[in-house]
Amino acid sequence: MQKKSDIGEFSLSLPSPVEMITFEGRSIYLKRDDLIHQDFSGNKARKFYHYLYSDFPDIRKVVSYGSSQSNAMYSLSVLARMRGWEFEYRVDHISDYLRENPQGNYRRALENGMVIREGEGKERAVQEKGVLYIEEGGREKEAESGLGVLAEEIVSWQQEKQIERLSVFLPSGTGTSALFLQKRIAFLTYRTSMETVVYTTPCAGGSDYLKKQFRQLEEEEALHPTILEREKKYHFGKLYRDSYKIWLKLRRETGVEFDLLYDPKGWMVLMENPELFSGETLYIHQGGLIGNESMLPRYERKYKELTREDILQQ
Ligand SMILES: *Cc1c(COP(=O)(O)O)cnc(C)c1O
Repeated sequence: MQKKSDIGEFSLSLPSPVEMITFEGRSIYLKRDDLIHQDFSGNKARKFYHYLYSDFPDIRKVVSYGSSQSNAMYSLSVLARMRGWEFEYRVDHISDYLRENPQGNYRRALENGMVIREGEGKERAVQEKGVLYIEEGGREKEAESGLGVLAEEIVSWQQEKQIERLSVFLPSGTGTSALFLQKRIAFLTYRTSMETVVYTTPCAGGSDYLKKQFRQLEEEEALHPTILEREKKYHFGKLYRDSYKIWLKLRRETGVEFDLLYDPKGWMVLMENPELFSGETLYIHQGGLIGNESMLPRYERKYKELTREDILQQ
């Protein structure tokens, strides 16, 4: 049975607000994409924008795959609910712990009606009629339109503020967002006096992986974002003491909660590169806070002493 879509009552608050925050003595603009909508926000709202607003008269079901705690999975469950589509999500494996204690993105996606299939692999289901197949993490060219909207918001804000040089920073997973953002900003600022550069750092895989991702989406390297790295290697989803430390410090100094998977490395890299502050700096808050529901308790357990210290300092 076709569920009624509540897309009519659904609207995103765009453009997302820009705030000024101070961290470690530096003034930084913060683009609050985490505030786009209470259920559909951040990076994945930008990437799946196309699927929210385009017409898909024949689609009744969306199929995707990836990890059992991903932000993309949750956002797709919201999208499917809003559009009245079924949502099937394929994972290689779900841990017994998560199955017995659903939490974070996984729990919320199940509440939105997600049907999870374990061990089904990731073969595309494109031939199936009425099925829309979305790549893991939204790594596809369809993401460009939503990131184009973000680029327009940033450039008109920059014009309004009369900022000549702007460094835009966002941490990357697949790099899809940073790539399309840099590309669209380059088109919008071409032949203006504004200089706007997009910087990023890889959070899943290293610089070589990220460069490869960029090349797959855009051959012209002049349109690629600038990659910044740290010497220390970070593995996606692993818990690091310095990551938790900077996350706590950000919360204490700015009052803003950031995501625990991408933002800690993002902020470490940003603060280590003073050349990004030669003009104004804009950091993009890409949401992902539901993921913190499962990540934060793990950090609190692993680094008890940091948690205690933080409580005492408040
Ligand atoms: C998905 C996601 C990213 C990474 O986006 P990519 O386009 O894959 O680089 C960054 N931050 C958050 C919070 C995300 O959910």
